[in-house]
Amino acid sequence: MYSIRKKLSIIILACSILAVLLTAIFVNITINNKFSEYMVNNQNKRNDRIVQYFQEVYKRDKKWTAASGSEMKHEAYMSNYCITLLDSNKKLVWMMDPNDIKEKEHFKSLDGKSGVFTTNSFPIKYNGHVVGYVQIGQYSSVLLSADDVNFKLSINEGIIASIFLSLLIVIIISLYISKQFSVPIREVSNVSVKLSNGDYNSKTNVDTDILEIEKLKSSINTLGEKLNHQDLLRKRLVSDISHEIRTPLNILQNNLEAMIDGIFPVNTEQLIGLNDEVIRFGKLLNNLNALKEFEADTVSINREEVRLDELLSSVCDDFSIALKEKNIDLAYNIRPNKDYSIIVDPDKLKQVFINLLSNAVKFSDCGGKVWINLTRDKENIIVSIRDTGIGISKKDLPFIFERLYRGDKSRNKIEGSGIGLTIVKDILTLHSASIEAQSEVGKGSIFTIRFRNNV
Ligand code: ADP
Repeated sequence: MYSIRKKLSIIILACSILAVLLTAIFVNITINNKFSEYMVNNQNKRNDRIVQYFQEVYKRDKKWTAASGSEMKHEAYMSNYCITLLDSNKKLVWMMDPNDIKEKEHFKSLDGKSGVFTTNSFPIKYNGHVVGYVQIGQYSSVLLSADDVNFKLSINEGIIASIFLSLLIVIIISLYISKQFSVPIREVSNVSVKLSNGDYNSKTNVDTDILEIEKLKSSINTLGEKLNHQDLLRKRLVSDISHEIRTPLNILQNNLEAMIDGIFPVNTEQLIGLNDEVIRFGKLLNNLNALKEFEADTVSINREEVRLDELLSSVCDDFSIALKEKNIDLAYNIRPNKDYSIIVDPDKLKQVFINLLSNAVKFSDCGGKVWINLTRDKENIIVSIRDTGIGISKKDLPFIFERLYRGDKSRNKIEGSGIGLTIVKDILTLHSASIEAQSEVGKGSIFTIRFRNNV
């Protein structure tokens, strides 16, 4: 296994070495070819110059002697080639000894080997007639002087130096680029390992300008927050359930013990009190059971066409006594001349409104007010239930639909199990409807339900 940094560096480096080597080979071949071309051109020019020189000599002397053009010998010897002068009948006038130039070290052929002695013959013309021949011989097809060889070497050295310089730059860049990837990914992976070990508070703040890594980072952070939240809920759930069960059981046990010990009289009033606790206990178990059914997806829905305005007014009627007891004023407003028919499970939907209305009553002080509004627009039928109750704090608001979640204020003072709104949400989700809550502590709450028109 490689780290992402190592792997990226190796890939970048391998690609760069390949690119640099290919470029170097290409540049080297091109320069060598051009250089050979240049040397061959030079040699051809030299040959032309020699022929021209002998033509001038003949023009001046009109005949060949052993001294004709012998000044060229020195230059030929210095430049490592041999000249032989022949007359028009190809009879030797004078010649240089090829052995004199054989062992001269500072001359090399293009391919670096010393070769076979070869000669090329060129006619010398005067007034359109061939008057003689000059033969130029040398030990390789193209001759390179020490300067030429040095020039070629320095070009090759330059190419090699540029290869090493490019590789050095590539190594530095690849380390920098791979760091840009590896550091945030390592950070995110460390956080995910911590999350998997149960440390749900860990999160990463690593800076990155890579879109995918930024998304990964924020989703890992969100995952951590959600796990943390779920963990809190789980812990709270266990403590809430044990609290809810322990309270009525303790009351029952204490009272029964007091009756057995003769401290409390066994009379109807005492028994009614104990029965209330048993009923409360039963209610809690019923709620938990209902919740279990929704969450296990075993609940069945019996849809039929229902007039929402009628369903709501029947729920309001059911609450008349509870409202009167707390002297709460209920205003039921329906935007008229609209059709509020909808295909739903009437019993389940009634449960939704009962839960919301009972919360509105439960969390309102005596003399409060509750509004139920029913309206319809192009896309939705909208029901809102608003109260002037104690309100929900900003801290609690995002969690009120969670299982067994109870706001801090209501926890201690007001009876409840934290299941009502979870059931509301589950039923509405089954009907493809949405619910949202807005609230301000001390001012009241408003719950808005939207049913899609075509449901
Ligand atoms: P319960 O009412 O049994 O506590 P719910 O699931 O119905 O459980 O409600 C969850 C929490 O939401 C409540 O404990 C309370 O803090 C808050 N809540 C719900 N409805 C209202 C309301 N109308 N006014 C104030 N708080 C509310």
